[in-house]
Amino acid sequence: MPPVFRFAPSPNGLLHLGHAYSALLNFDRAREAGGRLLLRIEDIDATRCRPEYETAIDEDLAWLGIAWQRPVRRQSEHLADYRAALDKLSALGLVYPAFESRAEIAKLVAAREAGGPWPRDPDGAPLYSGEAKSLAAEERAGLIASGVPYALRLDMDAACRRVAGLTWHELGDGPDGEHGVVAARPEAWGDVILARKETPTSYHLSVVVDDALQGVSEVVRGQDLFHASSVHRLLQALLGLPEPAYRHHALIRDSEGRKLSKSSRSTGLRELRDAGASPAGIRRLVGLG
Ligand code: GLU
Repeated sequence: MPPVFRFAPSPNGLLHLGHAYSALLNFDRAREAGGRLLLRIEDIDATRCRPEYETAIDEDLAWLGIAWQRPVRRQSEHLADYRAALDKLSALGLVYPAFESRAEIAKLVAAREAGGPWPRDPDGAPLYSGEAKSLAAEERAGLIASGVPYALRLDMDAACRRVAGLTWHELGDGPDGEHGVVAARPEAWGDVILARKETPTSYHLSVVVDDALQGVSEVVRGQDLFHASSVHRLLQALLGLPEPAYRHHALIRDSEGRKLSKSSRSTGLRELRDAGASPAGIRRLVGLG
């Protein structure tokens, strides 16, 4: 079977040099390995994603000289697949609804922090303090029936008891030089959100479902997602999905050393192109000359 790669942008803004680097690495790796490159549009966040950004992604990738196989998978068109995976995790007793708003969670965490340091996830966000896990079944049912919004969270302790000792194969580098067989530490993320009342999925859940359904064998993506791989391995193991290899790459940074964002104009592909940059020039700029 030829290896399968994917570039998976979210259409919530225009592509910048960081995306170009990731897309070109995927394209080059697929060519080198005699594999296939897929494009996946990660558009589950309906409030931020827009079709015109997807059109711009297509145009910018084509301009860079990148070719990908069709059909393009658009996550918003596959909610039933994610719901099925969520149902499977629920049937294992690993999912519970949490009804606190973001502001309420921030308050609960602040109260905990008054008593000493409270753990943070690898992205620096405080872990969920877990109150809703101990609600009685009738209380849960009552709250759901009352129509309040909720998030569906993974019971991380229970999940880690089911599948312990997970690792992944890292072909690239983690932020601290991790390479080769890396031990997954999903517990560092606490009870992650898997879905919300209105949306039967989340970034973590849709990524593992799609990578499996699309037969992705090597995930090439930025180091900012290195630690998320721990959650992805856990979900793969719980759902009985195959394990791809991972190749995390360094992030392109601006002249002040900051991670690029979709609003940093000087590194936007369109701006660079309008200023006369060529596709070969972009390759050189990201160090792939
Ligand atoms: N959609 C994610 C992003 O744009 C990438 C997801 C992934 O490669 O796993 O950052």
